[in-house]
Amino acid sequence: MVSPVPLLSIIIPCYNEATNLENLFERLFQSLETLSLSYEVICVNDGSRDDTLARLLTYHHRHPPLKVISLSRNFGKDIALTAGIDHSCGQAVVPLDADLQDPPEVLGEMVELWRQGFDVVYGTRLRRQENWLKRLTAHGFYQVLGWISAVPIPANTGDFRLMDRRVVDALRQMPERNRFMKGLFTWVGFRQTAVYFDRPRRHRGQTKWSYWQLWNFALNAIFSFSVKPLQVWIYIGLCISTIALLYAFWLVLRTLIYGVDLPGYPSLMVAVLFMGGVQLLTLGIMGEYLGRIYEEVKGRPLYLVRDRYGFSDPSPDNASRE
Ligand code: UDP
Ligand code: MG
Repeated sequence: MVSPVPLLSIIIPCYNEATNLENLFERLFQSLETLSLSYEVICVNDGSRDDTLARLLTYHHRHPPLKVISLSRNFGKDIALTAGIDHSCGQAVVPLDADLQDPPEVLGEMVELWRQGFDVVYGTRLRRQENWLKRLTAHGFYQVLGWISAVPIPANTGDFRLMDRRVVDALRQMPERNRFMKGLFTWVGFRQTAVYFDRPRRHRGQTKWSYWQLWNFALNAIFSFSVKPLQVWIYIGLCISTIALLYAFWLVLRTLIYGVDLPGYPSLMVAVLFMGGVQLLTLGIMGEYLGRIYEEVKGRPLYLVRDRYGFSDPSPDNASRE
């Protein structure tokens, strides 16, 4: 059942996912058919270097509700997702990973809850079948994020969620470049609820995230969602100054009582190095925010589209969003 304005838009960012597509589409279309509602599937080719695009086009010709956007280069998952969302027209939008880590079978439950009146139905992972280090770091990350961010971001929740058109329109009003999607999804508010699922291992291929990238992702999440790293120095500074003041009093007192002697080279060095370290750290954190401001004021388009397949409008005003 396919109508011009689909009820459901599925957005799939794809970066070197050629080996996963066959299984993905088989399971996805099977799930969608059982829902018997109209849909579109938008695959965003995020500058893949394998034959992802060629395969996507084969599927597109076979199955027209599958539309393809090809970006001009690799922009990263969050931006690819944004490009897909910008081009979607469904009443509800669901981002989905191409590696089958977000099981399409959960869609039914999401749609059911959406019909009951929820605006956002997010998928929360019950068990992560990943190695202990990834599970541990993920846990730590959500812990820190929960503590630091102004809006409570649900733990173990990825981009896999159903969003009503109202939510999508709200999201589209956010022009920022540093797109920490999980945060943005939560920031918008609306009526949200969870569905739970076991997150399987990636079907085929390698994760695109190295530990270094995950670390940067975590930093990005924190810096783009909180100014606490800037504010915390007020308190650290206050503590250090108080300790220094007390120490100064003690020195004066000691000199008055015992007279002058001049040891203290080690303590001096420790104090100087400690303060140097603290100052460099603060400077680094300020630089991080400054860099972000610089990125934002440059005002470049978020992404550039090279080709689009299956879209009826010739050149939408959102082909590359500013
Ligand atoms: N992805 C993308 N651009 C990138 C990296 C990843 O579009 O630069 C896509 C990828 O094809 C997949 C999804 O984002 O559909 C999730 O990527 P991955 O499985 O590597 O992340 P993980 O599941 O390990 O968090
Ligand atoms: Mg994955």
